[in-house]
Parts: sequence; structure tokens; C-alpha cells
Amino acid sequence: MIALLKIQCPHCGSAGQILMPPPGAIIIGPCPECSKLVAIFAGEALPLDDDIMNNGAMKDKYEHVMQILSAYLEEQVRQCFTQAQDVPAVDDDGREGRRERPDKGKERPERLITDDEFDHFIQKELGNLDDPEFFERLG
Ligand SMILES: [Zn+2]
Repeated sequence: MIALLKIQCPHCGSAGQILMPPPGAIIIGPCPECSKLVAIFAGEALPLDDDIMNNGAMKDKYEHVMQILSAYLEEQVRQCFTQAQDVPAVDDDGREGRRERPDKGKERPERLITDDEFDHFIQKELGNLDDPEFFERLG
């Protein structure tokens, strides 16, 4: 069975569907209507800056995508703490402990991949910007 994700372009508001991405996947591609770039993450379509993404250096693109995604994550986490009082507690075995917030997300609390692998992932993802298969409108 094919699962589809309904998304709405944050730039022009047109709606479409894409194949449901794997959990945690970050998809970057142009809106089929207005051609402006969006990042699809956790079921949300987030607006990207076309100028940066088309003309910026790899570092600028990287930082822009990180900034967009981290702003989204921050909002999601804030909602966890402001809305739900019944959020399931973290395992109470002391593993979590107190964790200092890293400076602007520069370092992740736990790295499952190396920096090199992460850079490779980012570059590979960003290299797919012009691949029409990568962001395909179905509906
Ligand atoms: Zn659009």
C-alpha cells in the first residue's frame, strides 16, 4: 500500500501530495506550482529561501536548512511543554540525567554518525535539488 502525504506549499499555498517519506527524512525540492523551494520534514512543508538555496555556497545552504529545521523543532518542543501535561515521562532509570542545551545546536547531544558522514549526507541531499524524482508531485 502506498502512503501519501498531503502538503501545502508555504510560499503559494497550493496543495499536493508526495509519497510518504521515511520517518525523519528531510526532503528538499521545488514546489510544482511556484517553483520555490520547500523542505519537507516530519510531515510539514517549510519554506526555504530560494536565493540562498540556488546561489549560496554549500555552507550557506547547510546553515539555512539547519536554521529552518531547528526553528521548526524548537516550536514543536515548545508545544510539548506548553500544551500537554500528560507527556510520557522519559524512562526513569537515570539514563537521561541532566543535559545541558548545546550552543545553538552546534553539537548534538548524541552523535550516531560522524561529522564526515553527516556532511556527506547533507551534500548528497542538497545535490538532489534538481532531481525531479526526488520531489515528485502525485496528485
Ligand atoms: Zn508553491
